[in-house]
Amino acid sequence: MKIRVLTLFPAMFDALGESIMGRAIKKGVIDFKAVDIRAYSKDKHGKCDDTPYGGGAGMVMTPQPIYDCINAIDPDHEYLRIFTSPVGDRLCDGMARELAQTDKLMILCGHYEGVDRRVIDLCIDREISIGDYVLSGGELAAMCIVDAAARFVDGVLGKSESHETESFSDGLLEYPQYTRPPEFMGLKVPEVLQSGDHKKVDKYRRECSERLTKERRADLWEKLQNEKKLGDKDSGGGV
Ligand code: SAH
Repeated sequence: MKIRVLTLFPAMFDALGESIMGRAIKKGVIDFKAVDIRAYSKDKHGKCDDTPYGGGAGMVMTPQPIYDCINAIDPDHEYLRIFTSPVGDRLCDGMARELAQTDKLMILCGHYEGVDRRVIDLCIDREISIGDYVLSGGELAAMCIVDAAARFVDGVLGKSESHETESFSDGLLEYPQYTRPPEFMGLKVPEVLQSGDHKKVDKYRRECSERLTKERRADLWEKLQNEKKLGDKDSGGGV
């Protein structure tokens, strides 16, 4: 998977060189580059922002450097072009899986007050938000999108890692995890997890997942129940 992130602060993406993402980039499974938008500015001082029309606080990123940067990287519009934005569709597990199917992903990071709307309208396919709060820039949002999607790209996770037992994979939150020692500060690991009985362990974990989801995420629980009802109907069950 080829990923190009367009940003005024490429050094922020050095953080992706660590851990699972770092390994995937080194292996070549993910071809990642952070591209400096400023390099495309036609202003003699490399300026990429200006005051907003209509007044108001802060600065807005100008369209020319972004437009030229996007078209230099992707002249034939082969990339899925994303803009990180609080007004976009909310990133979720399903969206991350969907994005992982894309061969070429471009992510534009806004900064300051945002980006001149015209360049979004002209060039961008999809706007994605990582939640209902405002960040200072799209860089952290882009890292979340890249990391969440890359986990579903073949070869990114090692053999011992899996995305199929994680939270959201089956519509539920994950059960609590434990490792050695068997007792810590007086708190014991649940006995069933030490029993070696896989059926019992699976049942226990499933129950924990269901309880946790019901308690903490009524929205997810309800969605799952509705999907079950629909599934029963489709298979002609319950008649
Ligand atoms: N004025 C904008 C916020 C600008 S924040 C507004 O009120 O909606 C600067 C940049 O940070 C944005 O252009 C966007 O690229 C990024 N950003 C901020 N919050 C974000 C979020 N929740 N999800 C994704 N990107 C975000």
